[in-house]
Amino acid sequence: MKKLAQEAKTLFNIDLTPWQLSAVAQYMGELEKWNKRYSLTAIQSPEKVRVKHFLDSFSCYPVMKNTIINRVIDVGTGAGFPGIPLKILFPSMHLTLVDSVKKKTDFCRHIVQELGLGGVDVIRERAERLGKEDGHREKYDWALARAVAQLSELSEYLLPLVKVGGRMLAMKGDSGPAEAHAAGEAIDLLGGHLRQLEQLHLPGVTEDRYLVIIDKVAPTPEKYPRRVGIPAKRPL
Ligand code: SAM
Repeated sequence: MKKLAQEAKTLFNIDLTPWQLSAVAQYMGELEKWNKRYSLTAIQSPEKVRVKHFLDSFSCYPVMKNTIINRVIDVGTGAGFPGIPLKILFPSMHLTLVDSVKKKTDFCRHIVQELGLGGVDVIRERAERLGKEDGHREKYDWALARAVAQLSELSEYLLPLVKVGGRMLAMKGDSGPAEAHAAGEAIDLLGGHLRQLEQLHLPGVTEDRYLVIIDKVAPTPEKYPRRVGIPAKRPL
């Protein structure tokens, strides 16, 4: 935990409190236990979990911290990344975690309960359906995702959920700039505008990381998102 605290401070200027450190430790312990039974994530060694799950999720902190973060949604959250680490950093935000796979939403619910996190909804659903629901469509200040889909497909999942004036954030690897370029038209069509491509390096990770940040500048046309499976099959 000491190493994580030092890295969070050096890389992202985050001062982790004792509660935050113990919440992360508890989360890591539960992830290790559940991974043995259910194989929730490919990354399993404690070193990699620290860097590739927690530090990587923390990398969103600097770009989010001086913005409105009342309602945040993490789509395709898997075992809770990046949503739950960010909820630990921003305890007052309301967080919605979405995944279509039951064992993943079961794990997220378990962690939320174990850590005593208030203001978190865990929903087992496809992003394409959620983007059509009144309670979710254009209701979020931020929609986030890591390792879910190529950017044009992902924009069709995330941008319908974002309020005009809010932002979408896609966590990407080396392909970030090329994906942002290729998804330009899709982003415009969905009411977005590319704001920022933030490059990051994580300790011991050779691949560059990118945060692709897209402003929601206009309402998303009603026909998006299309039916389940179509954004993947025929990306915009
Ligand atoms: N975001 C997590 C992370 O970075 O560790 C999990 C990434 S995992 C590779 C992708 C997750 O996205 C899977 O758990 C999958 O079930 C979920 N997913 C993919 N497409 C989805 C969709 N259209 N709606 C909801 N969940 C989706």
